[in-house]
Amino acid sequence: MAEKPRSHGLKKVRLSARPRDLMAETARPGAWEARVITLFPQAFPGVLGESLTGRALKDGLWSLTPIDLRPFGEGRHRNVDDTPAGGGAGMVLRADVLSRALDAAAEGIRPGADWPVIYLSPRGRPFTQQDARRLTRAEGVTLLCGRFEGVDERVLEEYAIEEVSIGDFILTGGEIAAQALIDATVRLLPNVLGNQASTEEESFSDGLLEHPQYTRPATWRGRSIPEILTSGHHGEIARWRRRMREELTRKRRPDLWRAYLEAERKQKE
Ligand code: SAH
Repeated sequence: MAEKPRSHGLKKVRLSARPRDLMAETARPGAWEARVITLFPQAFPGVLGESLTGRALKDGLWSLTPIDLRPFGEGRHRNVDDTPAGGGAGMVLRADVLSRALDAAAEGIRPGADWPVIYLSPRGRPFTQQDARRLTRAEGVTLLCGRFEGVDERVLEEYAIEEVSIGDFILTGGEIAAQALIDATVRLLPNVLGNQASTEEESFSDGLLEHPQYTRPATWRGRSIPEILTSGHHGEIARWRRRMREELTRKRRPDLWRAYLEAERKQKE
């Protein structure tokens, strides 16, 4: 009998190295985990598989479990949505279908575990850097990605699901929002960023936007790097950066600036 063509074997190897396997099987015990309920599990890890978050995923510093919503659908066609009660455009994800997926997503999570369940939604509380920090302290998070017009309200009530928005605009689905939330959280996990100090000075960490950054060449199209930055006076550089951060925040984000002044005032009291 003829030997099997070599390419079959190779194919197998490639199959077993799918991102999916990397996502679920290499995590260290107790590593922070994101479970994502989605109609598009193949959209994960997506950009999270690149650069620092991707390296950390491969190193098992966190894990990602996409949960396909489709198999929890109704009937032969695994329908997951239906028309909105009361009429109107679009479709709504069904509460019964979502609850089956949510129950499956809860498997293996210790009762009483610090493990928020979040529905990505433009109606939600705006996601902030503090939320990302808060999520790093949880054991993991379950994210529900909506599609179409969103999800049946009853499932949000029944499961006490938090609604979180990534901004005042409408996306087609929750997947990009979920990836944004995961990215912001994972980079704050211990040992994910090479340089931990860089998360302490960046925008929002203390309520201010970041100062301008420069690198070589020293002069580019007739523009020079501010002299102070090449002076070697660390104290003066720190003061200059502070001043720039305050100016930028005051000009661009009066809302953050007010909150910053208020926090400073309280600290002095
Ligand atoms: N009809 C809804 C929008 C649905 S958009 C409304 O007007 O509120 C489809 C899905 O995309 C949502 O269910 C949600 O999961 C996701 N989505 C859209 N915009 C988002 C945002 N700004 N933040 C987080 N998720 C968002």
